[in-house]
Amino acid sequence: MLQEKIEILKQWVKESNNIAFFGGAGVSTESGIPDFRSVDGLYHMKYAYTPETILSHSFFMNKPKEFYDFYRDKMIYTNASPNITHFKLAELEKVGKLRGVITQNIDNLHQLAGSKKVLELHGSVYRNFCMNCGKFYDINDLLEQSGVPHCSCGGILKPDVVLYEEALDEKTLDEAIELIAHAEMLIIGGTSLSVYPAAGLIQYYEGKRMVLINKSVTAYDNRADLLIQAGLGEVFSGL
Ligand code: ZN
Repeated sequence: MLQEKIEILKQWVKESNNIAFFGGAGVSTESGIPDFRSVDGLYHMKYAYTPETILSHSFFMNKPKEFYDFYRDKMIYTNASPNITHFKLAELEKVGKLRGVITQNIDNLHQLAGSKKVLELHGSVYRNFCMNCGKFYDINDLLEQSGVPHCSCGGILKPDVVLYEEALDEKTLDEAIELIAHAEMLIIGGTSLSVYPAAGLIQYYEGKRMVLINKSVTAYDNRADLLIQAGLGEVFSGL
């Protein structure tokens, strides 16, 4: 059954040179990066607040020290490597089939795999900016400092990551809509489509080949033209 579905996907990929990929946390879990939204009891034992509270704009502004304790511990995975899904997507882009990746992940793994067009809806832990003067700092600059990282001007550094309570970058959002709206084939993977703006974005797809790959049930299963309930690695290694 799974093999038959992978064969269909393979055929569709073969027939298209205008594919868009929309991915969520499930793309990176096989690289050892946990989905922080999947409630983990450990968070509650170790931290006095939920991840959603800590990763909010107001929390960052009010308790930067506590924010960075959690952020450094749970959000930065500089030792993680891209997996088969990242690599296959980069390959599909290189041969002119895939137009771009839209991701909810902030781990830079698509770029490390070689993808060029990556729309990071939630930003990236690899970029940081001074809140006072706007100066750019990469992830190593941040890791070199302990506690709350500061700019040479004295300002506090803020990761270029979209926190709860914050709006998404409009330009990125517009580009994502453009990509989805004009795609012939849309592959959605590793997301339950329950988090804003994922569900809203895929409404822009007008084609007839929406492929949904996710281990668990999503709210859009009945909208998919091809539904594959499996891990992404298993599916992409079969392509
Ligand atoms: Zn500064």
